[in-house]
Amino acid sequence: MRISGLLLLPALALASPSPGDDLRPLADRELPSLIAIYQDLHAHPELSHHEERTSALLAGELRKAGYTVTEHLGKYTDGAAAFGIAAVLKNGAGPVVLVRTELDALPVEEKTGLPFASRVRSHNAAGQEVGVMHACGHDLHMTSLLGTARTLARLKERWSGTLVFIGQPSEETVDGARAMLNDGFYSHFPKPDFAIALHDEPTIEAGKVGVLGGAIYAGSTAVEVTMRGLGGHGAHPELTKDPVVMAAEFIMELQTIVSRQTLPLDPAVVTVGSIHGGTKGNIIPDDVVLQLTTRAFSEDVREHILSSIKRMAQGVALAAGVPDDRAPIVKVSETEAVPPTYNDPKLAARLRGAFEASLGAVNVAESKPMMVSEDFGLFGLSGHQIPTVIFQLGALSAQQIEESRRTGNPLPSLHSSVFYPQVEPAMRAGIIATTSAVLELLKRP
Ligand SMILES: [Zn+2]
Ligand SMILES: [Zn+2]
Repeated sequence: MRISGLLLLPALALASPSPGDDLRPLADRELPSLIAIYQDLHAHPELSHHEERTSALLAGELRKAGYTVTEHLGKYTDGAAAFGIAAVLKNGAGPVVLVRTELDALPVEEKTGLPFASRVRSHNAAGQEVGVMHACGHDLHMTSLLGTARTLARLKERWSGTLVFIGQPSEETVDGARAMLNDGFYSHFPKPDFAIALHDEPTIEAGKVGVLGGAIYAGSTAVEVTMRGLGGHGAHPELTKDPVVMAAEFIMELQTIVSRQTLPLDPAVVTVGSIHGGTKGNIIPDDVVLQLTTRAFSEDVREHILSSIKRMAQGVALAAGVPDDRAPIVKVSETEAVPPTYNDPKLAARLRGAFEASLGAVNVAESKPMMVSEDFGLFGLSGHQIPTVIFQLGALSAQQIEESRRTGNPLPSLHSSVFYPQVEPAMRAGIIATTSAVLELLKRP
């Protein structure tokens, strides 16, 4: 019985070819050139707001694939120009589908040891010299989008409608989508009926995808806190109000917002990712500057966190006896803030069907909501007027995931200096999944 059962399996598989079987050879023929482009992008990462080379490269490739490409889209709140691109392909009547990739990299010094590792250095917003790395996998997203664009241009007989591929700048600073929309993106280009994107995910095996209807990513708000004291000699703390000690107390106090103040059933995060103050061990500085990120899935929780941060900063300064005119300054960023990302459940279900058909059901996982944030949801406009879905693309090998499970050592996370995706299987899955999603949404009647 067992033997005959095993023999039957391949026969059954042959008897019912999956609709995605024909997409795999199309994706595979693109992979060698896409991997070369990937390595080039990986070696030449650019920080948010500075994606000049990256956007030009992607624009040129999309033009070669037969798309009408517009560059330099977007305007930031300070009036600076953005490097957004849009590539349009019209193919008869039908809906408009938008597919997005990000363009930007991160201020992270790469430590992967890869032959094409980034050696790029630049300056961050605070003027410090930093390494630059595609540590979030946006290079993988760009090449996967390009592979999808090429494949769909070849399959024009199988779909009808309009494709809008976009290269969005400044996702990491979450002001790129807004910059494009505020620049009148939807009045200059076809407004989509559906918008989709993908993001690589280390906890899912490369070659698989994950999808989830409903809330997928948290909303985030960046906050900068300046603890102001009265500086002086390190040997005379009694003559000062020490902002270093206040900053330390403030950081520990912040830990009680999530543990003691918000409802345990409401996911929330408060992280201090940067702290700077002082110049020398024997000098008590005047100020210490802290940069925070906060995450939440509801507006109520967000408001609660922000008011707690303000109250705690003031409370610490009050307890230290800081004069009123040196009270802490708490700046809540208006530009580095995004609402939670919501996947339209109906659209997510349609995509899941397309992914299961093209990649096989075993290669489609149920994603879990995460505390990371995204500005892609803004393309759905307020009140989710346009259905949007961002799905996850598996990034690491089964062995890496299994070993982490066995040893308890965490996997390299996105934004880590050693994060490196399994490019070939991940890119293939990205192309097949996105192509099958678009074919589903634009199928000929
Ligand atoms: Zn990122
Ligand atoms: Zn990212």
